[in-house]
Amino acid sequence: MLSIAKVTKNYAAEGGRRPKSPVDVSAPALRGIDLEVGRGQFHTLLGPSGCGKTTLLRSIAGLERPDTGTITLSGTTMFSSDQGIDVSPDRRGLGMVFQSYAIWPHMDVFKNVAFPLTVRRPGRTGAKLTRAEQRDRVEEALAAVGLADYAGRQATNLSGGQQQRLAVARALVTRPALVLLDEPLSNLDARLRESMRFELKRLQRETGVTMVYVTHDQSEALALSDVVTVMSQGGIEQSASPEEVYDQPGSLFVAEFVGAPNLLTGVVEHLADGAARIASEAGTIAVDRCTWQLGDEVRVLMRPEDFIITAAEESADPEERNTFTGVITATAFEGERVRHQVKVGKLTMECHAERHRALSDGSDVRLTIPAERVRLVPGSAASGGAE
Ligand code: ADP
Ligand code: MG
Repeated sequence: MLSIAKVTKNYAAEGGRRPKSPVDVSAPALRGIDLEVGRGQFHTLLGPSGCGKTTLLRSIAGLERPDTGTITLSGTTMFSSDQGIDVSPDRRGLGMVFQSYAIWPHMDVFKNVAFPLTVRRPGRTGAKLTRAEQRDRVEEALAAVGLADYAGRQATNLSGGQQQRLAVARALVTRPALVLLDEPLSNLDARLRESMRFELKRLQRETGVTMVYVTHDQSEALALSDVVTVMSQGGIEQSASPEEVYDQPGSLFVAEFVGAPNLLTGVVEHLADGAARIASEAGTIAVDRCTWQLGDEVRVLMRPEDFIITAAEESADPEERNTFTGVITATAFEGERVRHQVKVGKLTMECHAERHRALSDGSDVRLTIPAERVRLVPGSAASGGAE
């Protein structure tokens, strides 16, 4: 329903001031973005600060003018540099939620939500609604976010989470086909942020509205999305389901950004029937699936939760592959699990253990990982995006 093709944007080219003074001041904010967002999708743009997420979102909204490219929404061209089309934001029929909710403190909850309906100009996005219709729409939006009982309350007398829901209700009240959200949870404390994740996801499912959601928080992106698009330095690194981004990162940048503590360097030294042996810095590692060629440099990705950790004195299965011996150097208790750091030769590997199976620091241990859990990632940062 949203199609983005070859969108570029360079602030420097138009003499814009660059507030974050990156190293390369001429670097484009967007370098040829191609993206498809399906109807009803929860689509997240994930990436570090400065990678161009907000610029892309504002370009979709019409608040930023790309240098080149095309943006099409439900079959209507909203922006085209070739055709000289640039539809104004109020005529794109979108809802937006920003990091700062921009609620009006002098208005009550009802009036805040009703506001977008009252400023809609007749003849543009349909006939102006009657007062009764407006009230129905506002009540519907407030009910969707669980604020039905707060309509008469002053907006400033809401908690942070309620203000956030109010902002979402205001974005939904015009029944837009697409809602854009730019880091809407980042002002909330950790607990509230996690519970709001469930609410946003439920809301998106129930209303069926398409959402494009911006965040730099990888766990938020994985928890919320149907599709995660990982961005780096104005480009797209990978666009895939959360499971795929986590299990099979498309680039070294994605692996590192999504959080992979054990990424060993290695070379493909043997290939047979799609499986491979990798000569890694921690010794030979067997993998079940390998799409690389003999001699290719790769990174071996082993998730901390995929290791089986046992005390070294327990007898080992001599058939077992992918076993590393080492010493526990540090342990962090994290509630339902513990996180061990294990020194293996000169490497430090991270592994998770159930809290009741935790071993103590200084223990000699064996780490084992099944070959089917080992993943391979491109050996170097394909787009030079990794920091
Ligand atoms: P993100 O939202 O991922 O943090 P932005 O889209 O805000 O990234 O920024 C992308 C790049 O464009 C950054 O290098 C940033 O400094 C630059 N930039 C953003 N807005 C402006 C602006 N109004 N003028 C000049 N440079 C900008
Ligand atoms: Mg931003």
